[in-house]
Amino acid sequence: MIPLVIRGGLVFTQNAAREVVTADVLVKDGKIAAIGENLPADGAVKAIDARGLFVVPGFVQAHIHLTQTLCRGLADDRELLPWLKDRIWPLEAAHSAETSHTAARVGIAELLTTGTTTILDMGTTQHHDAIFEAARDMGLRYYGGKALMDQGEGAPKELLEDTDTALRTAEAQKQRWHDTSGGRVNFVYAPRFILSCTDALMRKVAERSRADRVLIHTHASENKGEIEVVKQITGHQNLRALHELGCLHAGTVVAHGVWIDESEEACLVASGAAICHCPGSNLKLASGVADVPRLLKKGVRVGLGADGAACDNTLDQRVEMRLAALLHRLQHGPTGLSAQAVLDLATIGGAAALGIAHAIGSLEPGKRADIVCLDPGFALPSPDPVSALVHGATAANVRHVFVDGIARVSDGELLDVSLPALMADAARDQRRLVERARIAR
Ligand SMILES: [Zn+2]
Repeated sequence: MIPLVIRGGLVFTQNAAREVVTADVLVKDGKIAAIGENLPADGAVKAIDARGLFVVPGFVQAHIHLTQTLCRGLADDRELLPWLKDRIWPLEAAHSAETSHTAARVGIAELLTTGTTTILDMGTTQHHDAIFEAARDMGLRYYGGKALMDQGEGAPKELLEDTDTALRTAEAQKQRWHDTSGGRVNFVYAPRFILSCTDALMRKVAERSRADRVLIHTHASENKGEIEVVKQITGHQNLRALHELGCLHAGTVVAHGVWIDESEEACLVASGAAICHCPGSNLKLASGVADVPRLLKKGVRVGLGADGAACDNTLDQRVEMRLAALLHRLQHGPTGLSAQAVLDLATIGGAAALGIAHAIGSLEPGKRADIVCLDPGFALPSPDPVSALVHGATAANVRHVFVDGIARVSDGELLDVSLPALMADAARDQRRLVERARIAR
């Protein structure tokens, strides 16, 4: 791989001191080799002129559903449980390998062109290999796996498997995909949520994730109706129930955590499990507001994510950053969540939630070269670059994106993908899903 130097940008290092410096970034063999002024370069080095650009760590989204990208606009204006039962589950059940592949490609195209380089993704029950293939081929750093569902009132039969089949097929997926593409593509266990998984399945997942050192990715405590049903069935609050089943540990990422009480916060702290905050999704489904400032104060690791296109329409992490920066002011006042705290959620915090902060999430020598160059545009002038990035980044244009030092977006264009052709496939495949799912558009 040809060494690369990104010259003269404003580098948001996200290192321990959170330094923002005008510097060059030298990339060799997929890693950051050096950051400094006027770094020497021999003739073989490829140079990117980043003067006037923000150079930031690739965004990390700790909760995404690529499989739902083609469900965009098909499930508006519903709360969680009817949203799932009336729309999302029938649409997921209608997927083929081909439509799954298209959904993943469209989602990854949006993620890369808006500066996200790493995701934690939850699939549906079937066809998840097609999603792994898209992640492998398009160069995103990917953690994901099929959704595990062995029960569920109102779930279509296509989404339900018996416990052994769910575990066996997940295991086979792990064998095929975990730690592939040089460590960029990884398998995780994804029990969908406690209402779609038997205790036996949850306990087995807990056991295997610990033994294999593989992440658990699940949902909990998103919606008031959901937590009431969980309490009726398990006798516990949602996170307490997961804790009792052994599913909360330092390798667990729980999406949402909106409706949690003090005893559940204690479960998070004791277990080391992480929360992914999804402000756009929580607002669109009218679920509520997770108390992120409080969780952070308690020492809980928190990441940020868009969830899916069916509950958040955009997968642009900059929108989630802006929402997170504003939303918590309602309860905590104007200093509720600082711009720096929000940038942390979107980068190093998400990396820590996934247990990979040693490798990504900041721009420091030795880390993987997952780098985004943004033209700040109308985010400037502003004396505080972090404030400009967090509050104004939706005004910025993503110019260049690198994953493992490989260019995936150059001069604002996604490389190696014809977007018009891809979007035509997406429109065709969305029509197919609607027809097969027999729902009204
Ligand atoms: Zn979700």
